[in-house]
Amino acid sequence: MTDQSQIDALRDIEISPRSLLIDGKTTAASDGATLDVISPLNGRVLTTTAAGTADDATRAIASARAAFEDGRWRNMPPAERKKIMLKWADLIEAEALELAVMGVRDNGTEIGMALRAEPGSAVGTLRWYAEAIDKIYGEIAPTAPEFLGLIHHEPIGVVAAIIPWNFPLMIAAWKLGPALAAGNSVVLKPSETASLSLIRLCELALEAGLPPGVLNVITGEGRVVGEALSTSMDVDVIAFTGSGGTGRKLMMASAQSNMKRCYLELGGKSANVVFADTKDLAQAAAVSAAGIFRNSGQVCVAGSRLLVERSIHDEFVEALGRAAATMKVGDPLDLSTQAGAINNATQLDQNLQFVETAQAEGGTLFQGGTQILRNTGGYFMEPTIITDVAQSHSVAQKEVFGPVLAVTPFDTEEEAVRLANATNYGLAGGVWTNDISRAHRMVRAMHTGVVHVNTYGGPDVTVPMGGVKQSGNGADKSLHAFGKFLDLKTAWFKL
Ligand code: NAD
Repeated sequence: MTDQSQIDALRDIEISPRSLLIDGKTTAASDGATLDVISPLNGRVLTTTAAGTADDATRAIASARAAFEDGRWRNMPPAERKKIMLKWADLIEAEALELAVMGVRDNGTEIGMALRAEPGSAVGTLRWYAEAIDKIYGEIAPTAPEFLGLIHHEPIGVVAAIIPWNFPLMIAAWKLGPALAAGNSVVLKPSETASLSLIRLCELALEAGLPPGVLNVITGEGRVVGEALSTSMDVDVIAFTGSGGTGRKLMMASAQSNMKRCYLELGGKSANVVFADTKDLAQAAAVSAAGIFRNSGQVCVAGSRLLVERSIHDEFVEALGRAAATMKVGDPLDLSTQAGAINNATQLDQNLQFVETAQAEGGTLFQGGTQILRNTGGYFMEPTIITDVAQSHSVAQKEVFGPVLAVTPFDTEEEAVRLANATNYGLAGGVWTNDISRAHRMVRAMHTGVVHVNTYGGPDVTVPMGGVKQSGNGADKSLHAFGKFLDLKTAWFKL
């Protein structure tokens, strides 16, 4: 168990400037440029990272390609590769606290959640895929007797993994686990506003024995480094998590370059549907509050639309409001904090703008809605509930990616389904009911990648995570994720 004094001992330690990682070596950007890392805890410069250039991205891709072509990783016996990945997970586990605190100072997530969801989750994910390395078999097709049809699974080549700021270690591990376990090489691009702990996580891979060039890290601006990766003729797969706007650019870049595969994990506007027959409404309210307000709503699957049966609407919203009002928002490095900082000043401004627009469009500000703890210099916002939201309102259609909940009542199951599906997104959702048949009907009817039933959040690495509609394609997690990083090859023999 981590105690507060261990965290406090790390909260102010100096973080040295971070470099790129190319071909197993740390290196400055080709033009020496750096980016300031601003801490959302106090608005101050924490350190700098290298502002990678397009040339740096090209060098990293070349290093990844060379590593792939000479087979230093993909042709290593599976049991050896597994050993290295397991050792990597052990090294991360040994540094979990340092990684979590550095990550929180960089991105603002509350430390209690960061410890579990960041190094904790990354360790579990990397171990899970490491264990799978020597358990993936080819297949023999059921052919006529004079033929033999073999199906091989082959690594694809160079994967560009582009990562957002909300859970950098967890999400990177969802890409790195299966991509590396499958034998590919990777160029990883962290977010400008959450790169520090991820750079360290990748350095630990080298310490664990991952051969140079197999994993390269390019920090810097998305429009420079990300674009160089997405337009490259020598990247085979993009594995992206981030916003829909960037996702669109990646697909266009793919079409305009080498038609690289583009797997996108994008945003959501997930409906959390509460029926009046829910067994424990108080618990449903508390879990639903956590499902939107933890990490200050900066969770792609956040239940940001509450659809609640009209007969319990007022009672439920009151209960949820009480749960939200008692959540401790503030110092992300305090173990008792339940919602930390907004990642950056621009995001905070956007959140506040959403609240204004929601009211202008006819919504009612039930609770919250303002910036708090200004004296810290950091970016904090109250958990915010907006009622009387119609599906045409922006706050019902657009992802806020902040602590803002839009509430809409419904009268029938049919209406609940219609409202739940009435956005362009399809990432996640929730259903609360004591009727097992209704729960199954809702799971079938909701057009999303994940449906939580009588809970919200927390599916582990054993199940896929991915969106439908404009929430993306392909899935992270589970054995299905290998499909993105392995090609099928048929060998057809005449016997
Ligand atoms: P973003 O799209 O702004 O940035 C994501 C990454 O893309 C960053 O590394 C950024 O540098 C890079 N990038 C930016 N412009 C680029 C370009 N032109 N070409 C290539 N790369 C570029 O997203 P964000 O603000 O970091 O993250 C928040 C978004 O991520 C939200 O929409 C959220 O819902 C989504 N998200 C989705 C999931 C999921 O699993 N579906 C998980 C977490 C976050």
